[in-house]
Amino acid sequence: MKKIEHIGIAVKDLEAANATYNAVLGSEHYKTETVESEGVNTSFFKIGDSKIELLAATNPESPIAKFIEKRGEGIHHLAFAVDDIKAEISRLENEGFRLINIEPKTGADNKLVAFMHPKSANGVLVELCQEAPSANNTES
Ligand code: ZN
Repeated sequence: MKKIEHIGIAVKDLEAANATYNAVLGSEHYKTETVESEGVNTSFFKIGDSKIELLAATNPESPIAKFIEKRGEGIHHLAFAVDDIKAEISRLENEGFRLINIEPKTGADNKLVAFMHPKSANGVLVELCQEAPSANNTES
């Protein structure tokens, strides 16, 4: 794994959280994106070489809605950049880690992503992400 690509933070109100993180980081979010398959609206901030991804649920069945219901707002996942996501998935599986996604799926920010179960990483939901080969995102 190369670096922390981003930190995902579950929020109730994306607009309000945008204003908060704008004030905290001293910079505006540079993009918002809805990932309907995941039931999330996302907003991204750049902070040096890494990013902050704010995640708000689009419906009550969204994993983010369930996360907030159980644990409240806060850090939701840690995302690591990888060059070859399929190779990383195999490597982790071979080392006995429990993956949520065996096959990479399309995530926000033009990435191929796969999640590792929090039980495998001391309670932290780990996301692997690889730059997707072709751009298919909506800037705003
Ligand atoms: Zn993420």
